[in-house]
Parts: sequence; structure tokens; C-alpha cells
Amino acid sequence: MPTEIDAATTLDRPPLFSEIEHRLADACRRLVALCSHNSAEGQELQDKFLPAISKINQVVIGPLEANFGAFVAIEDVLYLKEEPVIELFRIVLSDIASQLKAGRTISAAEIPALLERALMDYVLHELRHQSQGVGDYGDFKLAKSIAGRRFMAEMDVQADRDAAFAFSMLYTHGNSRAEFLECFREALFLSSAYYFRIFPPTPSRLDKQERVAAVMLMSARLAVIRDFNELVERPDLPLDSPLIAKISTAQSTLAIFQGQPNVRLLGAANDAAVGLLVRQLDRSQFDDALETSISLADQLGLLPDN
Ligand SMILES: [Zn+2]
Repeated sequence: MPTEIDAATTLDRPPLFSEIEHRLADACRRLVALCSHNSAEGQELQDKFLPAISKINQVVIGPLEANFGAFVAIEDVLYLKEEPVIELFRIVLSDIASQLKAGRTISAAEIPALLERALMDYVLHELRHQSQGVGDYGDFKLAKSIAGRRFMAEMDVQADRDAAFAFSMLYTHGNSRAEFLECFREALFLSSAYYFRIFPPTPSRLDKQERVAAVMLMSARLAVIRDFNELVERPDLPLDSPLIAKISTAQSTLAIFQGQPNVRLLGAANDAAVGLLVRQLDRSQFDDALETSISLADQLGLLPDN
């Protein structure tokens, strides 16, 4: 398999690929260094990411055989399947083009950094699956066939949250809580703006809806703080807490739980907003879904105090 990838890398590839590959490998090395920080955050990174990233020295974007899924680490090389990466870059670049049209200034030099951030969060999600024990695609499929889709969707949400945590550590260097939370919000936004468009939630599939709803509700809690002068976080439910969403089979009731390590019920909603959220997720209307999630989070008392 590596022979096939080596051959592919010499073919006609977008020149940007090499730069992004180097940037990702460098980000992995910086994350390894952060794992040795003498802090609770350093310990959490160590537990959740170090086993998967300690050896990575090179990242290669190329073709991957179907049995590897979209991602595989072999010795010190991390291989990323090129199709989802190309699709991600296509969406990010078209988003940048829209922003330029709307008058925002983005220099050419900023573009590789934006692509790196969009891809790194996706890579962190996949790396987290390693310490969850489901990094191997065969193991993931086996666990899913036994535990069911909804349980695996919970593992995906936890990986989304932990990827956002590592992303924030990586790109803020622990400067301030406000900066950390802004990065955390950005990482969750990357999920809804990009990854869920590449792998859209299948209409009427509860597992997919629950994963996206959980990410939306985590995003909702952070979306409102931009207007705050002073931020007061609930000590029992910090703004980077993982959430789990469960939707009834009739798709009319939603229960929200705090995720690991203190799993507990935070509240339940049983009104028109739940059905509205489900319909918005089914149609991939993520901007509207965020607004609905903010009102649901408000109703359930999950928003921070101003
Ligand atoms: Zn996953």
C-alpha cells in the first residue's frame, strides 16, 4: 500500500498539497510538545492524543484503499484519503471566494493557513478515534455492528469535542480563556460549515441527527458569548463541556446530557423547536439550525450568564 501512495505522490498533484502536508506534520509535532505541559489541559491532551501522534513525522494526502477508510497511520506516516480532502478544500476555497466578494480582505498568504486549520480539526477527530480504540476502520465497523449506530455517534461527538479542544490548545497556545473559547467555537463551526457538508447527516437517521444536534448545541453555547462584555462560566458546565443529544424516534423530543467524564441529564425539550431543528438538520440548513439550537439551549438553561 505505501508503494502505491509513493507512486501517486509523484503524479500531478495540486502544489498546495505539499505545503499543507508539511504544515500538518508540524502541527502534530507542536501538539506532542503541548502534551508535556504541566497542566490539566496538558494531561488531557496526553491521554487523548499522545498515543496517536507521538510517532507521526510525515503526512501524505493521496489515494487510499477502501479497507483503510479515510485515514490510516502506518509507522511514522499519516495517510489521508485525497477525495474528502479535495472536497474540503473546494468548499473552504469557495467560502473564501464568497467572503472576498463580500468585501473581506484575505491575502494569498493566509489561504494555506486557513486550509491547514480546516484540515487539522478533521485530522484531530480521526486521531482521537485511535485512543477511543476505534481508529482502525475494521474495528470501527465491528464496534458499530455490535453497539449500534447511535452509540458510535456518541463516540463521534466526543471526538468532535476533543478535536475542538486540541485545536484550541494548538492555535491559542493557552494565552487566555477567551481566546481558547473563540478557537473552540471556530473548530465546532468547521464541523457544521464544512465536514457536515462533505458527510451530510442522512435524513431521518437518528444517529446522524443526534451527532449534529450535539455539535450545534455546543456551538450555540459559544455563539452567544461574542456579545458579552464579561464572561461568567458555570463551574459545573464549562463552555468546552462535551454534550450528548438524544432524539426520540418520533423526532419530537430532545434530551441533552453532559458528556464524559460526568455524564448527567441537563434537560429535555418537547416542543415545536425540536421538530424544526430535525428538519433543518435533514436539509443541511446549519445556519438556521444554529439559531434554533440557541433558543433550545436558552430554554434548557444551558447558555452562560452575561
Ligand atoms: Zn468519526
